[in-house]
Parts: sequence; C-alpha cells; structure tokens
Amino acid sequence: MEQGLLGPEVPIIALLDVPGIKASAAELRAAFDAVAAPDTPVLHAFAVKATPLVPVLRLLHEHGIGAEVASPGELALARAAGVPPRDIVLDSPAKTLAELREALALGIAVNADNPQELDRIDGLVRDLPDGPSGGQAGSSHPRSPLGIRVNPQVGGGSIAALSTATATSKFGVGLRDEGARKWIVQAYADRPWLTRLHAHTGSQGIPLSLMARGIAETYALAEEINRRVGRQQIDTLDIGGGLPVNFGSEVTTPTYAQYARLLAEAVPGLFDGRYGLVTEFGRSLLAKHGTVVARVEYAKSAGGRPVAVTHAGVQIATRTVYAPGSWPLRIAAYDASGHPKAGPDVVQDIAGPACFAGDLLAEGRALPLLEQGDYAAALDTGAYYFAHHYAYNSLARPGIYGFAAAEGTDGGSDSSSGSHGGTDVRFAVVREPQSVEEIVAESGGARPTALTAL
Ligand SMILES: *Cc1c(COP(=O)(O)O)cnc(C)c1O
Repeated sequence: MEQGLLGPEVPIIALLDVPGIKASAAELRAAFDAVAAPDTPVLHAFAVKATPLVPVLRLLHEHGIGAEVASPGELALARAAGVPPRDIVLDSPAKTLAELREALALGIAVNADNPQELDRIDGLVRDLPDGPSGGQAGSSHPRSPLGIRVNPQVGGGSIAALSTATATSKFGVGLRDEGARKWIVQAYADRPWLTRLHAHTGSQGIPLSLMARGIAETYALAEEINRRVGRQQIDTLDIGGGLPVNFGSEVTTPTYAQYARLLAEAVPGLFDGRYGLVTEFGRSLLAKHGTVVARVEYAKSAGGRPVAVTHAGVQIATRTVYAPGSWPLRIAAYDASGHPKAGPDVVQDIAGPACFAGDLLAEGRALPLLEQGDYAAALDTGAYYFAHHYAYNSLARPGIYGFAAAEGTDGGSDSSSGSHGGTDVRFAVVREPQSVEEIVAESGGARPTALTAL
C-alpha cells in the first residue's frame, strides 16, 4: 500500500513469497535426496498447470526444478522460462500428432496416455533417421525418454474431480482392466525404446497411503516388465505429483520429507538406485506461497448477515466459489492502512465482485468485522487460484508481484521497496494487471461488425 501497488484505484493484487518458493524447492530436493541411493537421477518436474507463470518456472528452474507440461501453451511457458528439454516432461490425455512430433524433435520426455497415442509415437519413431548403428528404419532410439502412463485403479479420494486413479478415470491405461496388463507388458517387450513408466494417482484429497499404493503397483509392474524382457529396460519411474496441501492453517503438512519416507517404507526398491525418478508436484510447491489481497469496496448487511463486498471472487478463486465444501480458503482481515485487523470475531460473508449470488470467497466466516476500505486476503492461493483467471463478468486479471523481505537493509533509496519497522520489502512484477483495453482486444474488439455483415 505504501508503494501504491494496492489501494482504492487498484483494489486487488496477487502476491508470491519468493523465499517461500525457494524453501519449498529445497525441501523437495532434500526429501528425495535423503531416501534415494547416492547418484540416483531425480528430476522434479513442477506441474506447470499449478502456477503457469514464466517467472515462477524460471525461479524454480534456478532452484533445481524442471517442468511437467500438458499443453502447447504450458510447453511454450516452460521454454520461455529457459527450462531445457531434458528437464521437461509432456503428459496430457489429448496430445495431437504435431505436439508429439515437436516433443520428439526437441528430445522432451513423453508419457503415452493410451494405445492410440502409442501408435502415433510408433509412427514417429519409425520415421526417425537411423541411428549410428545404421540398422533398418526405425531401429534407432528416439532422443526423448518415452513411457506409458498407467492408472493403477487403486481408487479415489475425497474430491472426485481430482481423483485420477478410479476405475473409470480418463487418464492412462487402466491396469486392472481385462487384458490391459498383458498388453502393457507386450508393448514394452516390442519397443526397446520404451524406458519409462508413469502414474499420477491423484491430487488434493487423496490419502498418502493411497498414493503410495498407486506407486507400489506401478513399481511392481516395472519389475514385471524388466523381468520379462530380461534387462533393466524401464530405467525411470515417474511417480506423478499430488501431495495434498493443508488449507486449514499456516502449517505445511504433510511435508515432502514425510511423503518420501513413507514411499521408502512402502516401496523400498524404488530408491535402491536401479531406477531414476521423476516427480510432478504442483500444488504443494506453490499453494502456501501465494496470497490475494482485495479491497472491501462496500460493507453491507443482508438478512442480519454482514457482507463484505470485495474485489476477489470467482475470477481468482473459481474452485472455492463453485465447490466451497471441497476448497475452503483461509481469509485474513486487514484495516484500511494494511495492518492486521483487530476486534471481536463477527460471522460474515466475504463476497466477490461477480454478478451471481454464489460469488462468495467465504460464507459465514468468523473474522474481525470487515468495513468499507478494509482489505481481505485469501491465503494459500499460490497454485490453481489467481494464476487461473476465470473471465466471468470480463473481470480483469489482477497484477501479480513477487516479494522478498530482508532484515536491516536500507529501503529508502529504492523506489521499488518499502521500509517498515526495519524490514525492507522488495517487489517484482510477475504479471502486469490486465487493462480494460486488453479485455476488449481479447473479446473480439478488433472486429465489432464481424457478425452484422454475415
Ligand atoms: C495435475 C497433475 C500433477 C500435479 O498435481 P498436484 O496436485 O498439483 O501436485 C502432476 N502430474 C499430472 C499428470 C497431473 O495431471
């Protein structure tokens, strides 16, 4: 607020805690280093869908984290961030032939989702120029590490929409379906260049024990395939992401260290050095490091319930607004000068700006009473929230700023920093706020008469 990033004219911003992101990246790497045999190759590929912002991908990459991408847009973001092909994994249930061709040309790892996709990859591998050994066409190995995604069908969690390992999930080859296991084993036996096996057993709402079971089944399948072909053909297991996030308090739980130890107990062979590993964590790396702060434009009362009408609603918290039972967010109250608000808790609604009744960030929440000109912060929104704008009511995408605080530095001379109580806070623009002109341009503004002339 001191720097004018937030105020009456800019009533909503999103913030990213840069030291927090770095710390989570370091915890992730340390957790797997602690359980894996020395020199095990481990690629932690951040699931770009969780926070698709180029500066975030770049920051993570500088801290040892690659990228898991699932669309041409996500791949382009990872490349714009400078993530090299060897640190990128392409998953998606609907890759076009052109996307597959590009991935193979770049040497990006691909996990085939289904038999039809594997057919397409076969065609692309056949067309590869011969390798140095000069055998018949198709005898050379693609540069891309290639695998198949399986669905261990171990069951779902508490959020159906995020449960990828149910019997009828749309992802991967269902391991328990009739004939599927046999087909998979044969698929590897027929293709010496298939060297990876992938499963992502689910995201928020999946118990850790279920995730571990999914990985145990995937590991057992890899062992079966390698026995069958008589060599360590599968050399890398991609265990997906999905570590749940605690949205109920400030504490990070479960931790990467807990999860890695659980996996080491449940699937010891995973870490004995015979397999390289790929992980694909998304939400757990970023969620706790993002905050949306929105001004209370009006404070009113309806049917005896105080309602704070803010600028943060469905456009930045789509899941919370449409499925509040599954996605409750913590809300923090600040006064008009930006300081934590004191006062007795009052049950109130924190509403968004969109024109439908359900546009509530929180309903019946006990907080110090929010008044006109105060601010409400939606916490833990660093993944799948403000970076996932939903253009309802043509509401603008808020600006996103990274911040870092350093004790004892002089903030007086730098216009992009603010000094408060001996703490210097520096901000960096990650994404400018969207302008009204951009909204018009993205909404067919260049062709107003397109339909009238038809
Ligand atoms: C969404 C997704 C992830 C990341 O899930 P999080 O819950 O954000 O950790 C990883 N892998 C695949 C294939 C996904 O679809």
